[in-house]
Amino acid sequence: METIKRKETRPVRVGGVTIGGAAPVVVQSMTNTRTTDSAATLDQINQLAEAGCDLVRLAIPNREAIKPFAELVLKSPVPLIADIHFDARLAHEALESGASKIRINPGNIGGKEKLLGLARRADQLKVPIRIGVNAGSLEKNIMVKHGGPTAEALVESVLGYLDALEDIGFSRVVVSLKASEVLTTIKAYRLFSEQKPYPLHLGVTAAGPLRTGLIKGAVGIGTLLAEGLGDTIRVSLTAHPVEEVRVAQQILHSLGMGRPVPELISCPTCGRCSVDLVALVEQAEDLLKNYRLPLKVAVMGCAVNGPGEAREADIGVCAGKKQGIVFSHGKVTRTVGLDRLLDALKEELDFRVTHDHGPEEGE
Ligand code: SF4
Repeated sequence: METIKRKETRPVRVGGVTIGGAAPVVVQSMTNTRTTDSAATLDQINQLAEAGCDLVRLAIPNREAIKPFAELVLKSPVPLIADIHFDARLAHEALESGASKIRINPGNIGGKEKLLGLARRADQLKVPIRIGVNAGSLEKNIMVKHGGPTAEALVESVLGYLDALEDIGFSRVVVSLKASEVLTTIKAYRLFSEQKPYPLHLGVTAAGPLRTGLIKGAVGIGTLLAEGLGDTIRVSLTAHPVEEVRVAQQILHSLGMGRPVPELISCPTCGRCSVDLVALVEQAEDLLKNYRLPLKVAVMGCAVNGPGEAREADIGVCAGKKQGIVFSHGKVTRTVGLDRLLDALKEELDFRVTHDHGPEEGE
């Protein structure tokens, strides 16, 4: 099996999680609750962690939002990142409240001195800062020079901030260079990584609703990961944040990276198909979200070509004309009614959990 040779970057610690160096790619997402609703925020943090999110970011838009932050830090199962724009004081408060990382856009934090003041305190607390340069908020002079928010403009902008941070000896930095255009994003990360060793946060900003965002994220993030670039990823979707984590895991999985999750393969269906395979596959996909096993699972639509694929998988179900066939490790284990195919798949998965792999992670 081919594997990706990742470009090694300068590692930073975010609580107990390492971004960069030889560490596995870290998955992160962002809550969409208000921190002032601590219960809802904590509930979403827990959901994200349960789905496999390594780091969770919280928007801190004002003074009210920072108040519950320290308590959320204490109760969260994963390190929390404070996302702050416009107000460096909020970033300082987040640091004092136990943020494991701060995400700022240096272009709107109030000038170079405020950025450096923040970096000095973050360094004392051993907390990294993500310098997130965004195509939507580049400096005017750089925009004019490059004729718009090009990849070169994004890189020039971030290099300017990094020069200032390096001058005071601050290197606990993660860098992101985001544009909503996938090709601009890809080019910016490529150009930057040729010049600096900082770990990279990959994402395509404002990627869009579920399907569009998923495709943009998969193409943009996936392309860079396949080239060995990227240390932490966030898939931006206009959808529930848990979907972002699931898509991120799938991107990693498709490249042979990330934690084990089942892989579902299914046929495209044709006139031979004897069940509503689209519905069955959707149900199977939902079912598989509950398992963290590195299994290949096949759901196939007929007894002509289906058994071949189902045999190749670790677990397979295949709809015959009147009955469904269940495969395990390439062998037929039983036949069931067509209406019991999903139940049979669940039974096979549960059997694997207890017999082949032991209890599920986290139990
Ligand atoms: S497995 Fe059967 S139903 Fe599915 S595409 Fe192939 S021939 Fe058609």
